[in-house]
Amino acid sequence: MSENEQANTVMLGAHCSATKTNNFGIDRAVELGCETAQIFGSNKIQWKPKSYADKEIQSFRDAREKAGLGPIFSHAIYLINLGAKHTKPEIYEKSIRSLSDGLKICDLLGLDGLVVHLGSNYGLGLEGVIDSVVEGLTRAREESGSGTPLLLENTAGNSRLIGGRFSDFAAIFDAVDDDRMLGVCVDTAHAFAFGYDLREEAGLDLMLREIESAVGLGRVMALHINDSKVECGRNLDRHENLGQGHIGYEGIANVLLEPRLGGIPAILETPGFDGNGPDEANLDIMRSLVGRLDESPQAIARRAEQAAAGKRSKVRTAKRVPAKAGK
Ligand SMILES: [Zn+2]
Ligand SMILES: [Zn+2]
Repeated sequence: MSENEQANTVMLGAHCSATKTNNFGIDRAVELGCETAQIFGSNKIQWKPKSYADKEIQSFRDAREKAGLGPIFSHAIYLINLGAKHTKPEIYEKSIRSLSDGLKICDLLGLDGLVVHLGSNYGLGLEGVIDSVVEGLTRAREESGSGTPLLLENTAGNSRLIGGRFSDFAAIFDAVDDDRMLGVCVDTAHAFAFGYDLREEAGLDLMLREIESAVGLGRVMALHINDSKVECGRNLDRHENLGQGHIGYEGIANVLLEPRLGGIPAILETPGFDGNGPDEANLDIMRSLVGRLDESPQAIARRAEQAAAGKRSKVRTAKRVPAKAGK
């Protein structure tokens, strides 16, 4: 595939906040003009799974079909730690239960994958927790009875996090009996913070070669497209709006236009210019970078920043008025 063909096939979308009143994110995805999306199937900081009424499930499925949306992924809750077996057995059991619940929700809603961060190695290194991770993934799959793929997401790394380097996934895929249940989700901000310099051809190439030799590029089922607030190699997970961080427009474009990542859903998890999560401006910047929108990313960002500043000053003025009136 050439860069031009890739520009035509890449599917652009965003993480959408899911509420009962927006068909669990579908209405938001439509509003943003997404071709693909991600939602939280449950509250991201609660162990208890969200429950869905039959009516809500049907309404989600109908809205999705009507919108003609491509793949939709669920992101697992943030509390999950599959490396916890030896150090925090209670957390471990809750993690497996939560992952199993998450998979069941994917089945109910008809989602295409559950993205999961594997968590900490508790200072034991990958070798010290690989049995824990493999058993956790396998048990979650068995207990859920689900066929939805689990997408392991790369992390910003540091010596305690599992999955900064893609070779970590090789050991996990190898040790799982049926590795067809596993896929990979590549987050650009995490990869960059880990040390893959996506601004350079060589950095992107290194990452892709490592993924290819670890699990095969065919296992990459989703991309998280985020800029990074921190410099390459700083090992911190800090998402930034596209072009406002250290990866920059060119680095993001390198990924979006990379022929070896052809046709993979590209999903924003950016903070948004008004701080309310992935927005139209970040999507427009992606559209511009792949040549689908005839406006420069700089101009789109300027417009979004002005709009956000206008909103902020309106809020400030509204707050100031009653304070003055009270004096
Ligand atoms: Zn991500
Ligand atoms: Zn992140």
